[in-house]
Amino acid sequence: MEKISVAVRFRPSVASDSICERQWRIDDNRISLHRPLGTPISGVSFAFDHVFDHTSTNNAVYDLLIKSLIRAAVDGFNGTAFAYGQTSSGKTFTMNGSEEDAGIIPLAVKDVFRTAHMTADREFLIRVSYMEIYNEEINDLLTLGNQKLPIHESLERGVYVAGLREEIVNSAEQVLELLKLGEANRHFGETNMNARSSRSHTIFRMVIESSAKDLISSDNISDADAIRVSVLNLVDLAGSERIAKTGAGGVRLKEGKHINKSLMVLGNVINKLSENGKQRGHIPYRDSKLTRILQSALGGNAKTSVICTVAPEEVHIEETRGTLQFASRAKRVTNCAQVNEILTDAALLKRQKLEIEELRRKLQGSHSEVLEQVILKQRNDMHKSELECEKLAMELEEERKSREALERCIAEQQRKIDSRSIATPSEDQATSSAKQNVGLKSICNEVSMSRSDVFQTPNLKQMSNGFVVQRSIFSKELDSSPVPENFANVADEDLWMRLNKGCITDLDMLQMTPNVKCQSFSLSEISHDVCLEEDANARRCHRSENECIFDRQQLEVSKEQCSMLEQECNRLREEKTSLIQDLSMSKKDVEILNSEKEDLLKELNMEKQRMKDLKEEIRLFSMAFTQREGLLTSLYTKSKAMVENLKASQVAIPEVYDC
Ligand code: ADP
Ligand code: MG
Repeated sequence: MEKISVAVRFRPSVASDSICERQWRIDDNRISLHRPLGTPISGVSFAFDHVFDHTSTNNAVYDLLIKSLIRAAVDGFNGTAFAYGQTSSGKTFTMNGSEEDAGIIPLAVKDVFRTAHMTADREFLIRVSYMEIYNEEINDLLTLGNQKLPIHESLERGVYVAGLREEIVNSAEQVLELLKLGEANRHFGETNMNARSSRSHTIFRMVIESSAKDLISSDNISDADAIRVSVLNLVDLAGSERIAKTGAGGVRLKEGKHINKSLMVLGNVINKLSENGKQRGHIPYRDSKLTRILQSALGGNAKTSVICTVAPEEVHIEETRGTLQFASRAKRVTNCAQVNEILTDAALLKRQKLEIEELRRKLQGSHSEVLEQVILKQRNDMHKSELECEKLAMELEEERKSREALERCIAEQQRKIDSRSIATPSEDQATSSAKQNVGLKSICNEVSMSRSDVFQTPNLKQMSNGFVVQRSIFSKELDSSPVPENFANVADEDLWMRLNKGCITDLDMLQMTPNVKCQSFSLSEISHDVCLEEDANARRCHRSENECIFDRQQLEVSKEQCSMLEQECNRLREEKTSLIQDLSMSKKDVEILNSEKEDLLKELNMEKQRMKDLKEEIRLFSMAFTQREGLLTSLYTKSKAMVENLKASQVAIPEVYDC
């Protein structure tokens, strides 16, 4: 945001009498009204950015107020300078100047071309137009009869005067010629040029387009590819005096009303813009053609300078005061200027290309790589967890097998213990029976009769449940279990009876069961053997019980391990499932990204094709342009020669007459 730059300029006095009641005094950049004795009149004191006294030159005004504006316009900022003041205060003198003292417009024109030439890295295309607003009608000053032009507005061009001639220019001299032409057209049909000029606003406009010189040849993509377009308005306003002062009637009265209307609207716009931002409300740009055309220069996208010209004479004190008040309000207006960039098709293409490249980089680079890495990591993790899962499953299986083996072993031990506890008396009983060995012998004698009967018919027939195991009581302990062929030695009858009863016999148990020797024993041998056997059994039983306890403990431990392994296995399974889900989602993402990538590549190819076409078009256009330029130059040379000839012939005629 920057404030409008405002200056006040006094023209030299034309009053003959030096005695006056009040006069303006300038102190640096302050103007105040004083009485003859030098006492200031309160409330009539103004300060501005610059104040120029009657000795100032147009050059000085240009250097301090306008130069920076022109440089900015060449750099792409919109710029507007306008002269405001009553008739004959020196507006036209300031804007156009004189032979000796060139005004702001010619100085600006020269400066634009000078600056453009100095800007080596850019190419410029400059167009000029010159218009007049008279009685709220826009007339083209460069084309005679091109009058009452309408104002249009479009998105691309903003507010513009339709049908206004715009001349492409390439030198300051060419522009100055056109300005002369405009002045000449302004004279047309008017007997009193000054009378008209004080009632019309003139707007001299330069449109400065520039682009980086390497736009077409270079493949480098940069923001410099955009085209900058700035509009420079140099405005000479109509006189701001009161209508009563013109003392006009008829046509002049009508003119005055229009002048007052547009200047009044300009004043309103300035007033509104100078108000605090929040209270501003609607700005009435549309109320006059002048404010509509200068819209961007007033509180918009432009750098603006106002030069208020004032007449120092006492007779003009009220007008001067009014002008100074207007200038004070204008000083409070802020604009927001920025470089105007337009993207040409080529620049747009390059920018799009840049964006596509960026997208592509993102796609190929960070994003997809990261995704691929994530997928790879997930795959690895999944593989690891699968392996771990398999390992655990194997361990679990082994654990199960060992547990089963242990259980079987325990069951066997248990069975052994049970069978022993049934078949043999308790340890105490065994000891006591050993002690009563002698007594036993007598008992054995008693039993021998009945035993002989037992050995005729195996007594174990009566103990169906004890069956094979109980046989071992009567057999000697073997070093190894009998091989299955020894079934013949196992009590065939018993087996046969058990099978006939439908009992399922554990063959493993049978194999481990010591065989029974069917032989006869003497009673003493039997009793002695029984005692020894009972001791051995008691010891075995004790050992088996210990083993059993140990096995049970081991079983408990392995059970715990087993449950832990199962839990671990479940956890890994869950992990695997979630990893699979993640993987499938990532795969989908990759698919989407790939399709996006493909689309972008297609787009890129299309854009490349478009760029090629555009380059071709530009090449053809440049060729055509060069041809036409050559033609025009030769035409211009020819016509110049013709004009010279004509001039020569016109000079020659009087000589003929003289003769
Ligand atoms: P305006 O355009 O405001 O109606 P002009 O520029 O036509 O006024 O000035 C009126 C007269 O005053 C002209 O003859 C002009 O040469 C003269 N004049 C104005 N300003 C100056 C100045 N600063 N120095 C010398 N003469 C000036
Ligand atoms: Mg004038």
